[in-house]
Parts: sequence; C-alpha cells; structure tokens
Amino acid sequence: MIIVITKVEGFIINTTDYKESSLVIQLFTKEYGIIGLLAKGVKSIKNKLHASVMKYTYGYFYIYYKEDKLSILKDVDIINPFKKIHEDILAISYLAYYSDLTYQVWKSSPNKEIYHLFLDTVNQLNNQKDPLVLANILETKYLNFLGIGLVLDCCQNCGSTKNIVTVTDGGLICKNCYQNEPIVSIKAIKLLRMYNLIDIKTINSIQINETTKKEVNNFLEQYYQNYSGLYLKSKNFLAKLKDVMSK
Ligand SMILES: [Zn+2]
Repeated sequence: MIIVITKVEGFIINTTDYKESSLVIQLFTKEYGIIGLLAKGVKSIKNKLHASVMKYTYGYFYIYYKEDKLSILKDVDIINPFKKIHEDILAISYLAYYSDLTYQVWKSSPNKEIYHLFLDTVNQLNNQKDPLVLANILETKYLNFLGIGLVLDCCQNCGSTKNIVTVTDGGLICKNCYQNEPIVSIKAIKLLRMYNLIDIKTINSIQINETTKKEVNNFLEQYYQNYSGLYLKSKNFLAKLKDVMSK
C-alpha cells in the first residue's frame, strides 16, 4: 500500500486525549477547513512531536489525509510560535476566545475566508494590538458568515443614507423609520463600519476612544447573544479574568 503524505498549513484549535499516549487534534487548515487529526504517541515526552502538538500551534502539518475520517499526523514544522501571545495571560485568553468563536462560526458556515480572517487576527494579537478591538473586528466580520450581517451603509428599512439615528437588529435606522430602538451613538456606528471594512493585516496602530470602544463591544455582545445562537464558554472566562485583573 502506498501512503501519500499531504502538507497542510494549519492551526491547532483544540486537543483531546485519546487512549493513554495519543491526542486527537482539531486542526484548522487552510486547505480543508477544520479536520480531526490523530497524533499517535505524542503525549510521551520522548516523542519528537511532543512539543509541536500543543494547543494554538501554527505550522505546516504533514498528514495522511482521510476525507471525513480522522487523518493521521506524521510531522510538524512550526511557522510561528506566537511567543508574545504565550507570554501574556490576557492575550492567551483572547486567543482561546477567538479559537472558540472561529470553530463555531466555521461549523455553522464553512468558508475559506474564515481561515484568513482568523490567522490575520492571531498575527495581530502577537503584534500586541489591542485584543478587545481585534475581537470586535472579528465578531463584526463573522456576522456576515452567520447570516446576520449588519447593513451599515444605509437605513435597513427605507435605504436612506441621511439622518441615521441608531443601529439595531440587522442594521441602521434613520429618523423616519425610528420607533423606540435603543440608541447607539454615531461614533460607535462609524467604528462598526470601520471594523466591517478594515483589512486586519493592514492595522498598524489602533487609537480609539475608550467609551466608543466599549459601546461597540456591548452592542456586539448583545447582538451575538440575541441572534447568533452560539454559546461561547471562553467569553465568560474572559469576562471573569478581566474582572479579577482590574481589582
Ligand atoms: Zn429609514
């Protein structure tokens, strides 16, 4: 039998124990999306792949690929160890959240673009960009894949681009269509629009007013709770951690 080894680029989203010495890896690959990978014997510290199969490893994976089944891991070349993230408890917690969110978005709507959005965000986190802003940018962009994208260029009811007063379920509302939806400031609306359009790779410095940043975060949090149908355990952990750190 000839075994063909395939090289894929990927990021370890999660790992679970399998038997005594092995792991099953959830690998988010550029080529095949999220796949299950069996890594035999890697829990032993003597195994040459032991240190290369940790959660959040980004590298080239040499695998025996099986469609719709567990693929088998043969070797790993690390592309970027993301040192700056691993040195920082808050950054690593955000990475856990991005991974959790990305896994769920991809499961509900597999699309190749998700891989690039995710990796660009992780790279920027490693460049020590504001983790909350990065989370909100990712959340805003992911809404489009979840089928609950925001209409941010005109009123969602009448299409008017004038006298916008707030943003609510699905998009902007103008003065004429306004009933009594909660008010989101114009500054926050502009920021949401920027988040939706910006290419994550090109972010250099982020200077955003704290109040507006929080307003957008609250809006997105509420919006995800109401419409996404996702349950994000890592987000609760993040909230608790931020709480502890601010004391
Ligand atoms: Zn309108």
